[in-house]
Amino acid sequence: MTVAELADGVRADKRALLARAITMVESRRPDHQALAQELLLAVTPGPDAPIATRVGITGVPGVGKSTTIEALGNHLISLGHKVAVLAVDPSSTRSGGSILGDKTRMGTLAVNPRAYIRPSPTSGTLGGVAKATRETMVLMEAAGFDVVLVETVGVGQSEVTVANMVDTFTFLTLARTGDQLQGIKKGVLELADVVAVNKADGDHVVEARVAARELSSALRLIHPPGSLWRPPVLTQSAVEGTGIPEFWDAVLRHRSTLQEAGEFDRRRRQQQVDWTWTMVRDAILGRVEHSDGVRAVRSEVEASVQNGSLTPALAAQRLLDAFDGRS
Ligand code: GDP
Repeated sequence: MTVAELADGVRADKRALLARAITMVESRRPDHQALAQELLLAVTPGPDAPIATRVGITGVPGVGKSTTIEALGNHLISLGHKVAVLAVDPSSTRSGGSILGDKTRMGTLAVNPRAYIRPSPTSGTLGGVAKATRETMVLMEAAGFDVVLVETVGVGQSEVTVANMVDTFTFLTLARTGDQLQGIKKGVLELADVVAVNKADGDHVVEARVAARELSSALRLIHPPGSLWRPPVLTQSAVEGTGIPEFWDAVLRHRSTLQEAGEFDRRRRQQQVDWTWTMVRDAILGRVEHSDGVRAVRSEVEASVQNGSLTPALAAQRLLDAFDGRS
């Protein structure tokens, strides 16, 4: 099969070919990587093509991400959209499988022909997972998926990584008030464009509303009056489906606010540039780590930092000198 045929198959949303294309972008084999880049160039749309809506969804395990995606995905399909669900889970490399994007947890969405769910690639580093996910996003959009939902948990830098590949980053949380608010990672509130308190059902409705008000006050400190966008804090029940249309409305409001200010295009262009440099950094780090010079001194230098006979700055210099072939 030629790259052109594969590109046609992706554009026609032929699922077997789409799966093959995704496997290719996820592969670390140099020949697959080269073909993947050709394929991505072939399917990259022109400037007038419709622009998909890219939404990140984060929250601790158990908060209701997959239940929300199931409810939201079905809602979007009822509005006529085609929905792709991708996942970024760097820990899946260690655990041998990702719990995110697990089709059994999104049962009705998984069998809907207007949806496509892809679990996290297990390609090693967060950088590798992020690259595969970004490229898969391009393939999904070429196949006509006009909404891409990217799910992640707050492992290390994964939230920042996902926030940098979507237009709207959403944060799901449970009803937390007072001191419990401290338990929410501050960084995630700074990244969030939309916040939703999930499980606002049964006896928890009032509690959820109180939590939403408190979170809203906390967010007002991060986004002062006059900010282009001040993230709303919603309440919802993913199991009952309440608040899900409002969640989507908030995503669309965020998108149109950015578009009207010219910020949407600027952000996307900046994301492409940032992504380029991220790949340069990852590639250089890989070269340094795998160079013969560094391999020869690495354990000795690490031991010296650990026992205090070298400062980290001197150790870094030793490693770079070893890479340059100066020692
Ligand atoms: P994830 O780990 O964030 O993907 O969370 P899940 O979507 O798997 O949900 C974890 C548990 O919470 C499951 O037992 C869900 O049925 C339950 N759950 C999810 N959303 C809601 C909700 O809105 N209300 C209630 N009561 N339970 C929910």
